[in-house]
Amino acid sequence: MKKKRKTRLSRIIRKQQRQQFLLVMATFAILFITLGMIVYNSFENDTYEGIDHGINNQVKLIQGDNKKLTKPQDNIRAPGQDGPSPDPADQHKEPSPHSPFQTSLLVYNSKGKLLNKSSLGNRYTLLKHLPLRKSQLNKKQTIVISGMNFRTKLIKVSKDNNNQFYAGNYVMVVQNIDNQITSLENFERILIISFGAFWLISLILSYFLTHITMRPIIRSWKQQSEFVNDAAHELRTPLAIIQGKMEYLLTKPNDTILDEAESISVSLDEVSRLNSLTNSLLELARADAASSKFEFKITQPDFFLPDPIKPFTDIVESQSKHFEIDISQKVNLNVDRDKIKQLIIILLDNATKYTPKDGTIRISDRVDNGKYYLTVSDTGVGISDEDKTKIFDRFYRVDKSRTKATGGHGLGLSIAQQIVHTHHGKIYIEDNKPTGSKFIVELPIKHKI
Ligand code: ADP
Repeated sequence: MKKKRKTRLSRIIRKQQRQQFLLVMATFAILFITLGMIVYNSFENDTYEGIDHGINNQVKLIQGDNKKLTKPQDNIRAPGQDGPSPDPADQHKEPSPHSPFQTSLLVYNSKGKLLNKSSLGNRYTLLKHLPLRKSQLNKKQTIVISGMNFRTKLIKVSKDNNNQFYAGNYVMVVQNIDNQITSLENFERILIISFGAFWLISLILSYFLTHITMRPIIRSWKQQSEFVNDAAHELRTPLAIIQGKMEYLLTKPNDTILDEAESISVSLDEVSRLNSLTNSLLELARADAASSKFEFKITQPDFFLPDPIKPFTDIVESQSKHFEIDISQKVNLNVDRDKIKQLIIILLDNATKYTPKDGTIRISDRVDNGKYYLTVSDTGVGISDEDKTKIFDRFYRVDKSRTKATGGHGLGLSIAQQIVHTHHGKIYIEDNKPTGSKFIVELPIKHKI
């Protein structure tokens, strides 16, 4: 039954983890794609800005506006011009066929006839496919001819231009941008590969991170679910006994209370068990929700220890056991007196419960290394090393049949641990030589007197 519950719980947890992982995967994918697009677009814009800058400079050169040339472009020169200022001797020349292939100039008359075929040389075969489109005047365009990429701008040169060859004609600046396109493609490839790799790395990291961060949540989820199940189980037993006894009483309508005293007293015992169990559950639930109020005050052990200890002197003695008290430390502790009382009662109650006749229960204190230590020891049955680690778990009882007789639910030490933790202290168990166990509570000292 418990196993079935656990596998169902694990299935829910696995489903939850899967959903969380898919969410992380999608989030990272969106992030990387957006980032990649931003980086690629800005690189593409920079590239085209560089190209257009070159074309604009070229246009200014043609228009004879050399002074406005903003940045020298070594690879972009007007055909027939070796420098930024045109040689007056070249003024009637056609653009030279020896100009770099990166940039070409196509000169058209207003009827669309290409005027500089001869200066284009072997480029003519490629560029002849570019007709004059007046609608594209002053616009930049990216075109592909025979697998080669070009960026173009068409301008109309004024009639009074220095260079008679251009004057009154249309000039199209054609720049080959294969290098830039290749570097853009390379950049895109690198971007896809590196972002893809980083996406995978972040997925692997997030997978492990999700597991690590989910661990405490899963643990407390499991604990909570186990707690509820165990609590229901604990409540069911006394309820079933009470129900049985009541049903039995209904079958004896003519009996007196005295006749059925046993059934009634068993039912009452179970009612008081239920009472203490629900109180303990409420206490733990409140502490879990951090809604249980703690009223911390600076006090000395003399003020809060005698109250819970006193009743035990009579109880222990009535059970033919010995009780030793050795409380002497004068230190200031920041404690909630009522909660500490409850803690001491739990520890002394357990020590008394699990110590046989003639055994000794001892409560003592000491100060060591700036900490206050309160020890409750007994010469009872002792606790095995394996149980020492589990004993503070809710509903954990070492010997269920034995604790049935002692009336415990396995909640006392969980409550004790919670009280100690709220006081920023520690609680641990040691063996009491030669027999029995020692519960040591470590509390911080506010300041010594
Ligand atoms: P319970 O109400 O059952 O005593 P606790 O949480 O106080 O619940 O204790 C859990 C279990 O730890 C007990 O059932 C008992 O088996 C064991 N235990 C606690 N105190 C002692 C002790 N002083 N000596 C031996 N066993 C102890």
